[in-house]
Amino acid sequence: MALIELKDVTKKYDKSTTALRHIDLSVNSGEFVYLVGPSGAGKSTMIKTMLGMEKADSGIALVLDRTMPNRHILGDIGYMAQSDALYEALSGQENLEFFGQLKGLSKKDLTTEIAHVAQVVDLTDHLNKAVSGYSGGMKRRLSLAIALLGNPQLLILDEPTAGLDPKERVRLRELLADMAKDRIILVATHVVSDVE
Ligand code: ADP
Repeated sequence: MALIELKDVTKKYDKSTTALRHIDLSVNSGEFVYLVGPSGAGKSTMIKTMLGMEKADSGIALVLDRTMPNRHILGDIGYMAQSDALYEALSGQENLEFFGQLKGLSKKDLTTEIAHVAQVVDLTDHLNKAVSGYSGGMKRRLSLAIALLGNPQLLILDEPTAGLDPKERVRLRELLADMAKDRIILVATHVVSDVE
């Protein structure tokens, strides 16, 4: 079974905008896949269609063999959107607690999980600071930590290095390479050097 399966997917936003035209994609276990293309190529639409946030006009989009949105497999998927959707007035810890509760993690699991994901993205020392004081790179890493809550087997990241300075970019790439060891990762990017 492919973990992500798109079959002949077409998506039009309006008469003049066909974002996806007969797309086939099959992502299997153990793979690290990059969707590479310029802005407007249709990468976000592809991700949103597989996640059930946009509806395909034709074709089939399956994640873990199911049609999304499906509440039961939401916990198996970590999704990081193109722009950070964080509560700036809250601390990193409070953001993680909020999104962890949305994912249905128990209070007990949440404490352990937050400590773990914060360590993975190297934010442990900054968890009690308000997110409004975070740098761009710290915000991206917090978004990544949120996506990692619950240890999802599938991680889908839309332009994870957008807006980062070169140093932060390298750091995030290394982090992803490390994570690819035990989960499937799909990354959309227009930055070819990220892939290299
Ligand atoms: P990428 O992620 O590769 O930058 P997108 O999937 O965002 O590409 O966009 C693909 C095409 O669909 C573009 O032409 C874009 O303008 C168009 N598009 C994306 N979202 C919408 C929308 N909500 N309504 C209308 N057109 C859209």
